[in-house]
Amino acid sequence: MPEYLDEVLRQCADDDEGALADYIPELAAVDPDRLAVALCMPDGQLYGAGDVDALFTIQSISKPFVYALALMRHGLDGMERFVGVEPSGDPFNEISLEASGRPRNPMVNIGAITTHALAGEEGAAKEDLFEEIRRGLGRFAGRELAVDERVFESERATAHRNLALAHLVRSYDVFSADPRDVVWGYTRQCAVQVDVRDLAVMAMTLASGGTNPLTGDQVVPRWVARQVLSVMSTCGMYDVAGDWMTDVGMPAKSGVGGGIMAALPGFVGAATLSPRLDRTGTSVRGVRIFEKLSREMGMHMMETP
Ligand code: GLN
Repeated sequence: MPEYLDEVLRQCADDDEGALADYIPELAAVDPDRLAVALCMPDGQLYGAGDVDALFTIQSISKPFVYALALMRHGLDGMERFVGVEPSGDPFNEISLEASGRPRNPMVNIGAITTHALAGEEGAAKEDLFEEIRRGLGRFAGRELAVDERVFESERATAHRNLALAHLVRSYDVFSADPRDVVWGYTRQCAVQVDVRDLAVMAMTLASGGTNPLTGDQVVPRWVARQVLSVMSTCGMYDVAGDWMTDVGMPAKSGVGGGIMAALPGFVGAATLSPRLDRTGTSVRGVRIFEKLSREMGMHMMETP
């Protein structure tokens, strides 16, 4: 397996298409050539190749896990009152709202910002809510995760659009907190640092009905893992969700830090890192790697075994 993964990376290594995310200034400073892949099996066995120790910010890949925490607090029906589950087909930062003010899904920013606000106790201080989320992300990963303070500061200082989205949802009373506090916490959530092995374990936790394969910890109940994977499969890749599902065929989530994470229920959690992004904010070489893995390892969910 390790030799196979090395070979997959070698075949994708020369592709330098795409560009670093520069709307968050600090993300434009990362090494664009970093390249890594990791797989986590149901028994917790990890395989990796490339820059497996490179730390990067989780960004939007945090969204499914915070959705899981919000589901635990509000239940399935409770959560659906606030945030929908329909794919929007919109870019990640779109004003994707129903007429009632309910965000269309928890994967686009407007829904993820709302979900962040709903993940904690009503009236909790922003620092406490963030700590609860950071600890929750750590339980999915099986280790404590830290924040990249430089990326956080850089995004916070330029978060005009996310602030606008938060104020818009707040105007419909979907949540009650101060929108500035919510964006502070959401931005910190996006600046949590992971490596590809962390993401592979986090994916395998979802793909194991909510039980972390390394620690044995039941992080969330099975119904939560099922709901999160379902929403990832229809909404996780935003406006390329259809392309991704047909070509790769796994519930997945991308992030503008260059990560992609995917989960095949019962079989594998997988993650890639390559920071050059296409126009939709998706890692170019990450998609190539997943297309290869899906084809060569038979990982497409819709493939008849
Ligand atoms: N923190 C980023 C933002 O809110 C996350 C976007 C992403 O990874 N697609 O803009």
